[in-house]
Amino acid sequence: MTDEQFPDPAVQVSGAQEIAPDLLVIPNQRVQLVPNIGIIGGTQAVLVVETGMGTANAEQVLALASEVARGRRLYLTTTHFHPEHAFGAQAFTDHANYLVNRAQADDLQAKGPGYLEMFRGFGDPIADRLDGVTVPTPDVVYDDGHDLDLGGRTVRLRPMGRGHTKGDQTVEVPDAGVLFTGDLAETGQFAIFPWFPPYDTDVSGVRWLAVMDQLTATGPRIVVPGHGDIGGPQVLGDVRDYLRELRDETWRRRDSAMGEEEIVAEVRALLIGRHPEWVGREWIERGVGCLCAEHASEPHW
Ligand SMILES: [Zn+2]
Repeated sequence: MTDEQFPDPAVQVSGAQEIAPDLLVIPNQRVQLVPNIGIIGGTQAVLVVETGMGTANAEQVLALASEVARGRRLYLTTTHFHPEHAFGAQAFTDHANYLVNRAQADDLQAKGPGYLEMFRGFGDPIADRLDGVTVPTPDVVYDDGHDLDLGGRTVRLRPMGRGHTKGDQTVEVPDAGVLFTGDLAETGQFAIFPWFPPYDTDVSGVRWLAVMDQLTATGPRIVVPGHGDIGGPQVLGDVRDYLRELRDETWRRRDSAMGEEEIVAEVRALLIGRHPEWVGREWIERGVGCLCAEHASEPHW
């Protein structure tokens, strides 16, 4: 994705916070390639959301989840196939039932090997984390949404269609008003557009915006983004507003026949000016590239 050397993406389980009764989040502490991880308990079972990258991270997450569970049954799900979210799942084999939506399972199978290879090229800390890692194989795959009964608490696993990837799903805990968005939302950074033509062009800015409108309407009280600080419903509104900005500024220039390179330069400067504190500036260019290839009426599923 970039040529820079990434820092070690270590999950810090000691930082786990209880954001609602029997609902822990291990915050990513703003470390790149570390996701926010959830541990959601009911009376009978506990669901882990995301594994962290690699088996060593995932083993720590599993250890904490097992300690929290105290004998309750364990489940695992992931929000999408990207390595820092899902590529620790093998540590949960024999300990938890791994459930995902169909499109994510397809992504794991079709794109998992390529992403494993690509991420191993991101420098030694990442290659070390991915040593011995295999592409995860889910135990249960569902076609539409899945309601998981944890005992006195039902969690809604919802595939969102194409957005950040082809297979994003959200995890909603209605009784606590908590929504895990995966990388459909981040805070403190520019939205992540994994637009790598010709290898991966599944991200859709147009569809992503539609998903954000839909998520905003569900009215969560607490939003756990894929990366960055946990917040209120405004997290969703901020991402939606940014995606609109990115789309409108890109399309305005494209429609006046400006070349893509020039569009990138102008939109990048403009958006950095509007969000000077955000990191991940390299994602602006990829977002512009994605939106340059899209049209409003395109049924881009
Ligand atoms: Zn992602």
